[in-house]
Parts: sequence; structure tokens; C-alpha cells
Amino acid sequence: MTPPPKLHIPGPVEVNERTLRAFRSPIIGHRSEDFRRLYGGIQPGLQRLFATERPVFLSTSSAWGVMEGALRNLARGTALCCMCGAFSDKWLDVARRCGLEAEPLQVPWGLSVLPEQVDSRLASGRYDLVTLVHNETSTGVMNPLADIMTLKARYPDVLFVVDAVSSFSAVPTPFDELGIDVLLTGSQKALALPPGLSLFVVSPAALERAESIAGRGYYFDFLEFQKNAERNMTPSTPSIGHLYALRSKLEEIFEEGLPARYCRHRQLAESTWRWAEDREFALYPDSSCRSLTLTCVDNGAREAGRRVDPDRFRELVRQEGVLIDGGYGRIKGVTFRLSHMGDETPESMTRLYLALDKALSRL
Ligand SMILES: *Cc1c(COP(=O)(O)O)cnc(C)c1O
Repeated sequence: MTPPPKLHIPGPVEVNERTLRAFRSPIIGHRSEDFRRLYGGIQPGLQRLFATERPVFLSTSSAWGVMEGALRNLARGTALCCMCGAFSDKWLDVARRCGLEAEPLQVPWGLSVLPEQVDSRLASGRYDLVTLVHNETSTGVMNPLADIMTLKARYPDVLFVVDAVSSFSAVPTPFDELGIDVLLTGSQKALALPPGLSLFVVSPAALERAESIAGRGYYFDFLEFQKNAERNMTPSTPSIGHLYALRSKLEEIFEEGLPARYCRHRQLAESTWRWAEDREFALYPDSSCRSLTLTCVDNGAREAGRRVDPDRFRELVRQEGVLIDGGYGRIKGVTFRLSHMGDETPESMTRLYLALDKALSRL
């Protein structure tokens, strides 16, 4: 049997041996003292990573569980969904499927959402919740989170829900300082953990809003998470392996150091843009808002740059032992995406570039 390919898709990403070893630790009871020590022991590291004094909640679900949960816990009036790609567009769809009032703020794919656009919509006074995807994984666009969050001061009663699923821990997203109300991420993207766990922080204002909302259900009830977190527990039986893996990952992250981690992600992004541009590919996102965790290469979406047969290219790369992504949503086939989040290094990226070059030479 040939070994599975090295993952360079934007999630799930490659999980290293050290993390997998931790993931395989013996299972303990989730109401035991050992569990509470494990849960409590990882909180300080998580709080450092989220830059918050609030508890960090752990949900055994993929990120969509908490995303839907945020809507069900917090949407009262009308939500404004900032949309610039498949994942941010999906927020509107999910809100409406939950029977909630939601409206789009749509910007063209490839561009970021701008603070003035959000401002002019919030000025209407119609909205009490904003959803924002920090890093739009489908288009490779990173939105100006800090600039958009300055609006919180002008609209203190609006709750800002931020999906940082594909950027969290690769770039700073300081929860307390920015005044975010819900910041959520998944395990299988920049944290390079196995899929199946979500991490999130909720502001006091958001918890207060949740108290006034009926029909929050149980599994994703933010108030249940808060109550249990106060005793170092989760509302239901969590994926315990994930907590061990997370503990191991936090050790790794702080061994490297946060500034070095952020710097590494920027360097890997820049070297990937160079790889593409040196081979006459255009990049899909506008140069003002390129993601630092994945590169979305234009492969015919616009009238610019080189074009390759997407299926054949991906297959040739696959024959070099690497899996890349052939585009997502309505830009499938006319873009391809290269992930550089998680544990990637200049050396591992060089191996990716070699595989891509070999595939290009065989096209
Ligand atoms: C991957 C991703 C999601 C969905 O995460 P799941 O873990 O599949 O639920 C949501 N938002 C963004 C920006 C993503 O990249």
C-alpha cells in the first residue's frame, strides 16, 4: 500500500507524530479529577493564544457546530453577514436555515470586507449581530480584522462573531484587546490537530445576550459551556484524545514562541507567493488582502496568468506524494490552493515547491 499523500490542502492539514502520540493517550473519565487537571492545565496556554482572560471553551464538533451555535445563542434581531467567499457566504445560509433574520454584506470574491462597508450598514441601526470570517479559506483572502473591530466602539450593542477557523494561531487575533464577542476556530487548520474539536471564547456581553434567547438547545448552549468551564469541565463527554493533543500542541507552540510562529507563517506565505509568481501564475486574491495561511492561485478565474489542466496537475502532484486542493465553491477548477499553515517549515515547503515543479514539467 502506498502511504497517504502529505496534506497541503487548507484543512485538514498534516498532523505530526508528537501530536498523534499525545492524541493516543489512555482515555480517562470526563468527570474525574485527572480530567479536570488536564482541562484546567491547558487553559492558561489557550488564554495566551486567544489573548484573553476569559475561559476558552472546547466543543467536540467541527467548527460549524459552534458557528451554528453562535447564531442560535445570540441572534435576536437581524444579523449582518459579511460575505466574501464560500465560507462567509455560508454563514448567511446557515442563519436562514436556523430560521433567523439575516442579510448579506456582499463584496466581490478576491476582495476583503472593508470597515467602511460594515460601518455604513451598521449605521442603519438594523443589526444587532455581525458575522465575519477572518480568513476566507475559499478565496485566500484575509480580512482586516483589527480595523473592522474598531467599529465595536461605535456600535457597542452589536455583537461581533468572528470565524478564525483557518487563521487562528498563525496570526494574532487578540480577543480582549479587539473587543470580539465570539472568536471560534477548529482543530484541523492552523493548529494542526486531528479534526473534530472546536475552540471558542465568548464575551460577557454575548453570554448576557444568550440568557435572553430561548431555544438555545443543549449541546451548543453557551451558558452550559460557561457553567461547566467554571469547574474545568465540558457540558458533555468530549473527545479526550483531542485535549491531550491540544496540550502537546500548546507545548510545541510556546517552545517555538508566538512571535516566531507568526513570523514563520508570514515567511511561508511570501515564499509561496514567490513560487507562484515566478512561474507566471497570478494570485486570486487582491494583493491588499492575501491570506498568510494559504495561497489561492488563479488558474483561469480571471484573464491573467498561467493556466494548467486542474485535474491533471493535481494528479501529477499527487504522484509526487502531495495532496493539494483544486479550488472550492464556484472557483473550483479555476483556482488551486496551497496550504502553509500548521507545522509547515521552509524545508517542508521546499519539498512542496519541488513536487509542484516536477508536476508542471510533466504536464
Ligand atoms: C474550514 C472552515 C470552516 C468549517 O470548518 P469545519 O471544521 O469543516 O466545520 C469554517 N470557516 C472557515 C473559514 C473554514 O476555513
